[in-house]
Amino acid sequence: MNVLLVYAHPEPQSFNGAMRDLAIDVLTRDRHTVVLSDLYAMNFNAIGGPHDFQDLQDTTFFKYQREQRHATATRTFAPDVAREMEKLIRADMLLLQFPLWWYSLPAILKGWIDRVFAMGFAYDAGRAHESGPIQGKRAMVAVTTGGPSTSFGVGAFSPPIDDVLFHIQYGMLHFAGMQVLPPFIAYGAARIDDAQRAALLDRFGEHLQALETLQPLDFSHRARQAHRT
Ligand SMILES: Cc1cc2nc3c(=O)[nH]c(=O)nc-3n(C[C@H](O)[C@H](O)[C@H](O)COP(=O)(O)OP(=O)(O)OC[C@H]3O[C@@H](n4cnc5c(N)ncnc54)[C@H](O)[C@@H]3O)c2cc1C
Repeated sequence: MNVLLVYAHPEPQSFNGAMRDLAIDVLTRDRHTVVLSDLYAMNFNAIGGPHDFQDLQDTTFFKYQREQRHATATRTFAPDVAREMEKLIRADMLLLQFPLWWYSLPAILKGWIDRVFAMGFAYDAGRAHESGPIQGKRAMVAVTTGGPSTSFGVGAFSPPIDDVLFHIQYGMLHFAGMQVLPPFIAYGAARIDDAQRAALLDRFGEHLQALETLQPLDFSHRARQAHRT
């Protein structure tokens, strides 16, 4: 498989950095090809706007999705966006590696989604979840948390991790038609000791080695709930 690893952490020596390095080692050893987008190292511009486009359809009123559709049709995305789209087209799988910040993605990674998962490219009106150039590709989230596993769950300090990640796994990845594999969660990465961190890395390696056999998440039940509210 060709794997696009999109990594978002400002400190290369962080635990997320260790997970990134491990993912590259394990996947390469298992004969996958890994392309890395290290968003902080690339100084990736997280802010979507008119600079995403080389040829604005309407210069009098900026409507982001309309311009994304136009740029998809005319191949006029700015080079930094076009490069990431090319990587995504060549990939069989997208792996997102990040620390949980405010129950979500670091802004730099959210900006990558805003700009790269463009309307007309990753989805279009009436064809969310169903078709498009990244439809059917696999996707997986690898995330570290501050809170321990016991702090996530029904009645716990934070909601169950599936709920926390729903807007990412369903609202972004599944929305674009990707097959979302079970996530890897490194709970409490900053609060545990070295031996526990080493064990977490071992478990992450095993998770990655099982990639080919992991079954995609089934969102049918969750989607019905979300659409009722
Ligand atoms: C803005 C913000 C919002 C946040 N919101 C949330 C939230 O909503 N929910 C939540 O739970 N948490 C939250 N957090 C906490 C955050 O998720 C954790 O701090 C983060 O996930 C820890 O991962 P890290 O890579 O940054 O850890 P680091 O602090 O970088 O690493 C932890 C330790 O691992 C060590 N390490 C590095 N490499 C290795 C290795 N190879 N082997 C063993 N040890 C190694 C490092 O030296 C360090 O001591 C938030 C943090 C911020 C900054």
